[in-house]
Order: sequence, then C-alpha cells, then structure tokens
Amino acid sequence: MPTLVMKFGGTSVATLDRIRRAAKRVGVEVAKGYDVIVIVSAMAGKTNELVGWVEETSPLFDAREYDAVVSSGENVTAGLMALILQEMDVPARSWQGWQVPLKTNSVHSAARIEEIPTDNINTKFAEGMKVAVVAGFQGVSPEGRITTLGRGGSDTTAVAFAAAFDAERCDIYTDVDGVYTTDPRIEDKARKLDKIAFEEMLELASLGAKVLQTRSVELAMRFGVRLRVLSSFEEQSDDAGTLVCPEEEIMESNVVAGVAYQRDEAKMTLISVADRPGIAAAIFVPLSEAGVNVDMIVQNISEEGRTDMTFSCPVDQVARAEKAMADAKASGEINFHDLLADTDVAKVSVVGIGMRSHTGVAAKMFEVLSNEGINIKVITTSEIKISVLVDRKYMELAVQALHDAFELDKVG
Ligand code: ASP
Ligand code: MG
Repeated sequence: MPTLVMKFGGTSVATLDRIRRAAKRVGVEVAKGYDVIVIVSAMAGKTNELVGWVEETSPLFDAREYDAVVSSGENVTAGLMALILQEMDVPARSWQGWQVPLKTNSVHSAARIEEIPTDNINTKFAEGMKVAVVAGFQGVSPEGRITTLGRGGSDTTAVAFAAAFDAERCDIYTDVDGVYTTDPRIEDKARKLDKIAFEEMLELASLGAKVLQTRSVELAMRFGVRLRVLSSFEEQSDDAGTLVCPEEEIMESNVVAGVAYQRDEAKMTLISVADRPGIAAAIFVPLSEAGVNVDMIVQNISEEGRTDMTFSCPVDQVARAEKAMADAKASGEINFHDLLADTDVAKVSVVGIGMRSHTGVAAKMFEVLSNEGINIKVITTSEIKISVLVDRKYMELAVQALHDAFELDKVG
C-alpha cells in the first residue's frame, strides 16, 4: 500500500468537532487505498498553556521535566483522533513518540531526530491497521527520557515520518490554504502559490513566514519529501494548497516568489572597536554563548585601526547582547566606545530562485523603497534573497510597495 502522511496543526484539532472534521479527511484518503500516518499537534493554545505552567512553577526549570509536561498536549489529541477514527470504523491506533520509537538526541526542548524505525508501525499496517496516529513534537532520548523538538516541531515530525516511510506525500493541514506571496493580513493582493521551490520555502520560513517550521523544510529538501500545505477548513481537491517541491518541477515563476518580514528586530552597533585579526570572533563568540541569535552583520571600513561593527538580533535579546558585550569589555577581550541599540527596526526581504539568473533585483528593491521615502539601515544578500532593515513603522508600507513593484499578484 502507498503511504501518506497527514499532519494536523493545533487549530485543526482545536475542538472535538474539528478533530472529527480532520478524521473525515483521513477517511477519504484511507478510502483511496492509502496506509495513513497522521501526525497531530496539541489543541490550539494548549502548548502555550503548558509552557506557562512550567515557567510559573520553576523559572529556571529542568528541561527534562519541561519536555515531560509540554509533550503531553499531543498525547491527548493522538488518542482522541484514534478514538474518532475507530468510531468511523477506520482501524486506527495512537502512538506516542517513545512507542514508535522516534529516537532523538538528548538536547531537551530542541532535540534532533536521529532515527525512526518503521517495523512496529509497519507490523500493525500488515495486520490491517489503516491509520497510525502519532503524537507530533516528541521523541525519546538515548537515556529513555521524553524529548521535544522545539516549537512548531510537529511539522518536523511529519516530514521525518514521510522520509522514513517513503510516503508518497506529506500533507500539512493548517488554518491557511497555502503559502502566499506575502502575508495577506498586510497585503490584500497577496496570492496563493500553487508551487514553491524548497529553497524559496526555506528562506521564507526562516524569514518569518510562520506556516512551516524551518527545520521541517530543511528535512523535506534533504530527503526529497513532497510537501503540501493546505487548509483543513475547506473541502479539498487533489491539487489544493501549495506544493513545496524541487525547483525543476516549477516551469516558470516570477523572479521574486515572495516578500517576507520580521517585525521585532533590533540593530546594534559597537562604536570604534579595534580592527585586528580575531575581533569578529571576540565579539560574536560571547554573543552566541549568551544565546543571542545574530542575523545580519556589517563591518565598516576602518579609520586609524578602528572600525564600527553592526549586527541585528531579535529585539527581546537586546538586554542579553548588551550584557555579553559589557562583560567582554570588562574582561578586556574587546574594547569599544559605545554600544548603540536601535530597537525600532524590522526586516523586509524578497526571495526567489529567479534571482540566480536575473540581475537588477536588488537595484529595483532599493529604488522602490527610495520612492516611498524609506531609509535602508542595513542590507544583506544571499544567492536567492535580499534583506533590508528599515524603521518598523515603514514595514507594512515596504512589504506592500515591493509586492506591487515585483507584480507578485500576477502569475509569472
Ligand atoms: N504543539 C507544539 C507547539 O505548539 C508543536 C506543534 O504544534 O508543532 O509548538
Ligand atoms: Mg505550526
């Protein structure tokens, strides 16, 4: 039997009625002849509540117990989904991570999947089970303790199962009907894409488009898992949603596939650090050790052996970054005159594999922003992406102007 993986996110299993509706979708695929592996998230809001309880109980919590608590939301939905399927006369069984077993490393709250043996579940399929309902987001460490894969981790569970079971496809059911050229809440002309390349999706996911966990896209790309994002709230045809696939499968597309944004960024500048070998390491190693996720980095030209170093990070990590830099200064590892923090910036990016073969995308982007009177504070580029930092109050305007200028409302 061909295997299909179907993943239902929190909003798609938020109530018993919604689980029933999701189960009906599963029934449709079973009727087509698939063995189905269903991956479920916790009911919407549940994981946040569980995290809140842990933090309230123990601010410096033991990560093993955090995982024990926050993984439990998925256990509930897995059992309920199996029960509802059984009520529909679909032979189904639930599986918690450790029962599969989904083996991970020991990095609690951010574990990596190491192996998914298929024999337990395949034995049950051979005995007539039609649906294995697996609790997403969780696994078991080599020490036999429950682990979790990081927030949004059920997407990664789903893709990993699709790879391990060589599934025909991995369908991600969510509350939006696909991947859009940009956030429809900001730009009402945003258009749903029928297909998007893995690389583009990877950039968009890591740039803040929240529809898929970045790691799940990485994994899908590595193992060639065909990934489909679609809504569980509408009747769905076989080609509904957005297919995330190898770029060879996309015949023609716009040069720019999408515009992404990240609202809560900060720009930090170290004024006048010594321009000497090792200075970047002396700055960025302590930042990384302090858990600061540095994104963009710009080093200015130096004058008389001193230079300014600018970097960006999430705005809620500014205090941590300031402390790390103050400590490094106090211990004599670095020397600087001042550390400036601009906490009112946002990042806006355009992404598209077409940039590999088309020139002028950056020039056009800068022109568009200039025409709107938006000042660019930092620029970074990669092969298929250009990102700028701008004042947060201009973020929406920048997204809209770029979406318009690159004609993303029209099919390429
Ligand atoms: N329930 C977990 C979370 O909210 C995992 C997931 O839904 O993907 O992060
Ligand atoms: Mg999610």
